[in-house]
Amino acid sequence: MKKHRLGEFSIDRVVEYEGPFAALQRIIPNITNEAIDANADWLKPLFVDQDNNAIMSFHSYVLKTRRHTILIDTCVGNDKPRPHRPSWHQQNYDYLQAMARIGVHPDEIDFVCCTHLHADHVGWNTQLVNQQWVPTFAKAKYVFAQTEYEHWEQAHRSALATSQPAPNHGSFADSILPVVDAGQALMVAQDFEFEEGVYLQAARGHTPGNCVLHAHSQGAHAVFSGDILHTPAQLINLGWSSNFCHDAQAAEDSRIALVHSLADTSSLLLPAHFPGPVAGHVVSHKGQFRFRGLGT
Ligand SMILES: [Zn+2]
Repeated sequence: MKKHRLGEFSIDRVVEYEGPFAALQRIIPNITNEAIDANADWLKPLFVDQDNNAIMSFHSYVLKTRRHTILIDTCVGNDKPRPHRPSWHQQNYDYLQAMARIGVHPDEIDFVCCTHLHADHVGWNTQLVNQQWVPTFAKAKYVFAQTEYEHWEQAHRSALATSQPAPNHGSFADSILPVVDAGQALMVAQDFEFEEGVYLQAARGHTPGNCVLHAHSQGAHAVFSGDILHTPAQLINLGWSSNFCHDAQAAEDSRIALVHSLADTSSLLLPAHFPGPVAGHVVSHKGQFRFRGLGT
């Protein structure tokens, strides 16, 4: 994705990893090989490989307005101990160099916005310095929906109290709490407005306090949709929630509402994990929906 103009705003992305991730059915359990085959003309090879593995990207978006630079979702992060997810364990990617390549210095980030607090959306919130997790974006306020924060704080505390494995691979302890301890967390309602035209909207289901971020400028509109959709293949059937959804029915309701609101409009969809063209439009096609990537 090249830098995209949205009215007076610009949108760019910082990629941590892009490539095959896992079998599509491990992510979306109800999807069938027949459904993939029937949609191969638009899914393959961009979004699904020949062995029906999902091609996924882990990236952050940088939204620049006249007033603010907002970093949206922060991937898995480097050096994080994630022994139960070997591909994420103590990663070492050139994410900060990738950010430098699009001309952004970490100290320029005014807000970090996590659509939800799963481990692959909070990782670069912190980095390891002298064996300590410290906020990567020294001058930023980190925006967390209060409902989302409270859910994971409770899960974190009860795991500690019962000696159970920490939720979300331990990311609450290494990627959220150091931000709170540094006084950089901003707990907000799920309709928080960053500035005129840039605001959160509740979209619960994937997690209890899951949000999407809307940006409007000069008649143009984009939605940073986090994990409402993990892969374009979910557009075949909006009832297909992911294995990682906390409440599959609520996630489906949120997915249906968002997709129907965007279909056949000029509004831009910016999901957290779509590879290739990354951002694009939802179009209806013979009674279902498809994703048309920017520039395709
Ligand atoms: Zn995710």
